[in-house]
Amino acid sequence: MTSNLYDRLLAGAESDRSICIEKDDGTALSYADLAALSGRFANFLGRNGIGPNHRVAAKVEKSVEAIALYLATLRTGAVYLPLNTAYTAAETEYFIRDAQPTLIVCDPREEADLRAIAAKAGGRVETLDHQGKGSLADAAASFPVGFDTVTRANDDLAAILYTSGTTGRSKGAMLTHGNLSSNALTLVQEWRYASKDVLIHALPIYHVHGLFVACNVSFAARARILFMQKFDAERILATMARSTVLMGVPTFYVRLLESANLNERTAANMRLFVAGSAPLLAETHRAWKERTGHAILERYGMTETGMIASNPYEGARIAGSVGRPLPAVEVRVTDPETGANLPVGDVGMIEVKGPNVFAGYWNMPDKTAAEFRADGFFITGDLGKLDANGYLHIVGRGKDLIITGGFNVYPKEIETEIDAIDGVSESAVVGVPHADFGEGVTAAVVRSPNSSVDERAILDALSGRLAKFKQPKRIIFVETLPRNTMGKVQKNLLRERFAAIYANKAG
Ligand code: AMP
Repeated sequence: MTSNLYDRLLAGAESDRSICIEKDDGTALSYADLAALSGRFANFLGRNGIGPNHRVAAKVEKSVEAIALYLATLRTGAVYLPLNTAYTAAETEYFIRDAQPTLIVCDPREEADLRAIAAKAGGRVETLDHQGKGSLADAAASFPVGFDTVTRANDDLAAILYTSGTTGRSKGAMLTHGNLSSNALTLVQEWRYASKDVLIHALPIYHVHGLFVACNVSFAARARILFMQKFDAERILATMARSTVLMGVPTFYVRLLESANLNERTAANMRLFVAGSAPLLAETHRAWKERTGHAILERYGMTETGMIASNPYEGARIAGSVGRPLPAVEVRVTDPETGANLPVGDVGMIEVKGPNVFAGYWNMPDKTAAEFRADGFFITGDLGKLDANGYLHIVGRGKDLIITGGFNVYPKEIETEIDAIDGVSESAVVGVPHADFGEGVTAAVVRSPNSSVDERAILDALSGRLAKFKQPKRIIFVETLPRNTMGKVQKNLLRERFAAIYANKAG
């Protein structure tokens, strides 16, 4: 039997007239329409020599046709390579040179840039815009809809996704058909996904969350997807009455909470709110429960592994925890230096093993070897602990750990204390070079609207709550925290910005 992800998700879709994707303009495609469109695109790819293991790069806006391109790539046995639309031409050139795609599909506005890159690095260029129009769609239109999906095995590559690479070079995570299908089918079960579900989809589709979680899970369940070009709080609220699921990054929930229109009535038809990609503040979890009656289901995953852990559908959804490991996924917490298993409650490196774990980094065998233990566990780079109930708690990225005067400080612990202070909206704690301490604990703080809380008040509030070495040496007020499109705070930017604040100062 074939393990092609397309077949695992969409076998039989060609005769399924139920609605698959509804667009912003109100028009809709059935599962049969999407199967047909992906068939046309696959025939176009096949005719142009694209087959197993060729890479197809897509740096395109969100559209149904972009989804059809993703599915068509799977159907030909080729490897889908979605690129963040925000990348500059120089960044894009690095990915194209590294991945050597046979076909590059880009927005028409970037065609000249991509042609210049392809002239140096190789590859054919086609275009697709946010409405799904462009040379790719034009060329594919004359091809037939029927296509025999190529047989693939679980271990064959389905996609390469570049990690955000906030330290060092971005790495291409190689994901297999088996990785993606096991994760999608597990989540359908765990989140009780069914064909009557209607998903509000406001995420980008070049990332694991918006593509592999949101779309694959919905496809596998034959649910309906309401495709929104971008996040718009009021539109989402107005759509909840006819939707059942929202998947969002934590920022979505923070923004929705700012609307006076969010209440139990607006959310009455919804059955599931999922958050992930960045930590959800316990405060946001509580506020959401209070306003809507729903406990947000927080889950944890990463590009290299897909989803790792999830709070339960039935049972306690714990604020500040990402829940238990998914079925068939093993999680352990180890000493980052020795790799030894740590007891329950101790903070250490989160390691993971299972059918969801990627096949390695493209063109980087040494990097791959360095990030796996001999027994096959992948070293995530995230620090966390397991509690007595088996729930996982993340305390932050290993590289964000602060070592001050020889003591380890986990930023999340400090951020949680600061966020609880009256007048504080949110905070991010980083280590900044300091002559005496190596690193000085430093907090960037966003005030709540109309708050005039100052550095002294925050430091006083923390002094009784945190050991001296954990207390920030400086509080720096900022308008907003720098975040990437997935809502992650870009701590590297804060470290750069604050790099010199302790220069020439002792103490
Ligand atoms: P990415 O590969 O871009 O999906 O980023 C993966 C990283 O996001 C993980 O290694 C975590 O550091 C972070 N992350 C994802 N989900 C969560 C979560 N629920 N809570 C805290 N951090 C998360």
